[in-house]
Amino acid sequence: MSPNWSDRPPAPTEFAGLRLIRVAAGSRAAGICLSQNLIGCYTHYTRRRTIPCEGAGCQFCEDSGPPRWHGYVALQSLANKTVAVLELTALAAVPLADYLDRQGTLRGARIDATRTGSRANAPVTATVQPADIDLRQLPREPNVRRFLEILWDVKPSTQARELAPPPGPNIRNITGPNGAGQSRQPAQDDHHEEHAP
Ligand SMILES: [Zn+2]
Repeated sequence: MSPNWSDRPPAPTEFAGLRLIRVAAGSRAAGICLSQNLIGCYTHYTRRRTIPCEGAGCQFCEDSGPPRWHGYVALQSLANKTVAVLELTALAAVPLADYLDRQGTLRGARIDATRTGSRANAPVTATVQPADIDLRQLPREPNVRRFLEILWDVKPSTQARELAPPPGPNIRNITGPNGAGQSRQPAQDDHHEEHAP
């Protein structure tokens, strides 16, 4: 066995330091969106892991009930300029989808997400507004879909589109038949606070 000499430190991995954040009770996340699009996925949370729902014939739909939808964008914190992937509930993501439909991109917009109240499962609300910033100064947009695939330890999606078109009106149909997808199993949302791949 011979050593694998390498006289320069390795380049940082693509997602070094990037974390998934969620809005904790009574707190908020405020930042500039780096993602052009909203990335959304149905997932199951089972055995302390998030697992993407496979749709028709999904084993976890049988075992643990209906999947939950979350939206994801890369956000540069206003407070300290760090970049994170923000996870939003279906309800909180609606303003992002609306903004995307109107403006064509989320990149450069200011996002404020708040979990009102002190309960861990209190609803998250989000606002999106144009920000007066120089887009050229913004960091490159991380590949959020790829980040999540690594985080969830799943194979890369066969969908070739790195930048999917805006999700369109479907995003508004995510609320359940009661019109309140948010209220179903709200506590499930709060088992996992922060992850890094
Ligand atoms: Zn499923």
